[in-house]
Amino acid sequence: MKFTDFNLATPLMEGINAMGYESPSPIQEQAIPLIIEGHDLIGCAQTGTGKTAAFLLPIMHRILKEGSSHTGTKALIIAPTRELAIQIDQQLEGFGYFAGISSLAVYGGGSGILFEQEKKALQSGADIIVATPGRLLSHLSLGYVDFSNLLFLVLDEADRMLDMGFLPDITRILSHIPKTGQILLFSATMPDAIRSLSKQILKQPRQINLAVSTPARHVLQAAYLVYDQQKIELIQHLITNRDLPLILIFAGTKNSVKDIEKALRKLRLNVEAIHSDLEQEQRIKVMNNFKNRQIQLLVATDIVSRGIDVDDISLVINYNVPGDAEDYIHRVGRTARAEKTGLAITFINEKEWTTFKRIEELIQSEIRKMPLPESLGQGPSIEELEAKTKRRNKRFGKSKGAARTAGRHQKPRTRPRKG
Ligand code: AMP
Repeated sequence: MKFTDFNLATPLMEGINAMGYESPSPIQEQAIPLIIEGHDLIGCAQTGTGKTAAFLLPIMHRILKEGSSHTGTKALIIAPTRELAIQIDQQLEGFGYFAGISSLAVYGGGSGILFEQEKKALQSGADIIVATPGRLLSHLSLGYVDFSNLLFLVLDEADRMLDMGFLPDITRILSHIPKTGQILLFSATMPDAIRSLSKQILKQPRQINLAVSTPARHVLQAAYLVYDQQKIELIQHLITNRDLPLILIFAGTKNSVKDIEKALRKLRLNVEAIHSDLEQEQRIKVMNNFKNRQIQLLVATDIVSRGIDVDDISLVINYNVPGDAEDYIHRVGRTARAEKTGLAITFINEKEWTTFKRIEELIQSEIRKMPLPESLGQGPSIEELEAKTKRRNKRFGKSKGAARTAGRHQKPRTRPRKG
């Protein structure tokens, strides 16, 4: 299939060509015609599949078709994090370069001057607004935002928004939006809460499912069994004398992100970190430095993992096993984007074996365990960890299957609420 098959408006096609897109990705093939036909949509797809263009292109096409007869803001896109809002806005700018569609990203942080600028742009009715829920609500509550002409509402990464506690905010935002518009909901996973939200707000939605539970096809995955105190040295070993221009390291909490950055800096590596303690301007600066290859290693928390849209990441390192198996897919999805080959390496410590096994179950494949380099000494052994798990299950009188299910409920989610 080709982009020309969608009969998109000419200035949009020029934008697509300028962005260097040659053919639509599977989600684009499925979603674009459905959205053009006017359907509400549930898109079950992870970042890295091209879902942003899958909703942006038909929205922009409709806006161009409506022309000047339809005034005010026509589309509202809500995303969980600033980073994702910025990424969406950047793609918007790319596609819209020749189309003259105005857009505005409203994502919080920054100074009072920025708030005033956002206010002015909101009052003037930018065609498309990309916003994080909290910041948008601050503006909505002041009464000058008019969404009465809205044609589209997009809820992007709905599962993450729910995880971050944004459901009440979303509900309040929905009360400002006309019921007549098209709603497009994208989510990497479909927990019950998302299903019931969709039932409440979507009208006879079409659903698209893109295999959620497997990382992008081209990612080579491997893992090391390693004690915490061996991890920094292992990173050094993995990257020394290798041509790896862009390396992304994920850690579970912002404190460990800071510790890792410090330790790697001591080794004189070219590293920076991104986490929620940084001001928004600093985050953008770090991200740009990474994109421009001025830094080789970026250490980040999960919260930012979905918003990182950097091409050619050569290696993703999971410094810890993510507590939520879906997060693994998101972290690993930062490499091998858009059909390129990437490498993802996970560090498993002696406490994370069961969590790691759940990830293998979810992706339905066994990830190759690599031997530690000799200079690092011994790490935990698989046999030891298997035996430990068996002993524990026996102690609690669980069968294999029951142990797995029980473990899932007992283990607190380690995903940080604030990254
Ligand atoms: P997304 O899943 O929307 O975050 O997109 C993932 C990455 O793939 C982004 O860098 C997009 O610019 C890129 N991308 C999306 N669709 C295409 C396409 N049809 N051809 C080439 N690159 C694409």
